[in-house]
Amino acid sequence: MDPDEFRRAGHAVVDWIADYWSTLHQRPVAPADPPGTVAKALPSVPPTTGGESVEALLADLDAIVLPGLTHWQHPGFFGYFPANTSGPSLLGDLVSSGLGVQGMLWATSPACTELETVMMDWLAQLLDLPQRFRSTGAGGGVIQDSASSATLVATLAALHRASAGRWRVTGVDRRYRAYTSVHGHSSIEKAVRIAGLGADGIRSIDVDPDTQALRPDALRAAIEADLAAGDVPTIVVATIGTTSTTAVDPVPEIGAICAEYGIWLHVDAAYAGAAAVCPELRWSHAGLEYVDSYCFDPHKWLLTGFDCDAFWVADRGELIEALTVLPEFLRNAASESGAVIDYRDWQVPLGRRFRALKLWFVLRWYGAEGLRAHIRSGVALAARFADRVRADDRFELAAAHPFSLVCFRLRADDDTNAELLARVNRTGRVLLTHTRVGGRYVLRLAVGSPQSTETHVDEAWTLLTDAAKDLVTP
Ligand SMILES: *Cc1c(COP(=O)(O)O)cnc(C)c1O
Repeated sequence: MDPDEFRRAGHAVVDWIADYWSTLHQRPVAPADPPGTVAKALPSVPPTTGGESVEALLADLDAIVLPGLTHWQHPGFFGYFPANTSGPSLLGDLVSSGLGVQGMLWATSPACTELETVMMDWLAQLLDLPQRFRSTGAGGGVIQDSASSATLVATLAALHRASAGRWRVTGVDRRYRAYTSVHGHSSIEKAVRIAGLGADGIRSIDVDPDTQALRPDALRAAIEADLAAGDVPTIVVATIGTTSTTAVDPVPEIGAICAEYGIWLHVDAAYAGAAAVCPELRWSHAGLEYVDSYCFDPHKWLLTGFDCDAFWVADRGELIEALTVLPEFLRNAASESGAVIDYRDWQVPLGRRFRALKLWFVLRWYGAEGLRAHIRSGVALAARFADRVRADDRFELAAAHPFSLVCFRLRADDDTNAELLARVNRTGRVLLTHTRVGGRYVLRLAVGSPQSTETHVDEAWTLLTDAAKDLVTP
């Protein structure tokens, strides 16, 4: 594909994406076809000669791929947590693909590293994170692919600290323990298992039944019990905005406990971290001055396409010591001078994409005010929906809704609630998901698509009340 062929095909692809976005609301949010439908529509052997036109590819995208998608950018998508993308993010990513550079070392593409450092400092300012996370001090930020990877590298740095550096040589030689609430994300158990602590190494700490937030007294008791057994408390993962209900763990109290015992404290704010661009939502980030590492996903609620997790450490030295390996073929004068950042030492893989570009495009396009408007719109739409729930005796709220997620249920048994969810999702107009709170089945409506408006949230409510009509008597 020479540059002129690329230019022509590229314009066609950009047009196709713009058409997709502008007609998205007409599609069913999720496919109804049985497993294997997409695979069956594809040839079983690869093309021999090549040279197919981009028009043929786009036609197959329309005919085969789009009907097999769950449309995460759809205005009626209220499932899981949002996974926003946006025009500026996509264009920044396109430039990154076009440049095709590797940013594993400063020396392998200086601008890739330096733009990332500045973007992470910009983001830290936008969220008003403590000074200690800025690259100008002992800390700093790095883009990981996901919150899962952020938790993994935090766990490795914590092992490095808890073993006084021995872990790098001996591996896991003691019973190192990790702590998170029963609502801690599944990626925490995965990280702990990958790090070699085993599923038995994770302590699931009870939550307060009213707030669903981790109970500091239960955390302290678990730590004390492990110490008494000769185990090594290694890392606590607190959550700001749990996946089930967006509960906020009491980070100031947890931080004080971690400081007392010298335990690494990582805060997982994958979804709710984006809220801190709004000063009125920063109460949720209290206590971060105690924290060793913190992450959130701009790829969830901050208009930046997957993948983009923003991860900061208070002391980059511990992280780098934990992860660095220096083969001869990567030695270079810039690294040896100590004057540059080599992000390969801040993550699991060696290679890395130029992901800072999409953040740069997003931050310059929207500015702090545009990002705040996006977050505020999600919070207001969730509050509007929650008001509807509150006003209808057949329904009840199942948790507080500080951000853009509403957890609610019919005042009926679990099976009836599951049937309600199935009915509204079958309409193809909206997609909601569920969780369990205090053992009970609960529906979740998470707002986040920049295309979602009052109309779409009101439609979700109408569909729910219609579907509920013969499920409960008013
Ligand atoms: C979504 C989520 C994760 C996982 O995010 P990835 O970036 O996909 O790894 C982790 N923690 C919480 C609280 C989440 O909501």
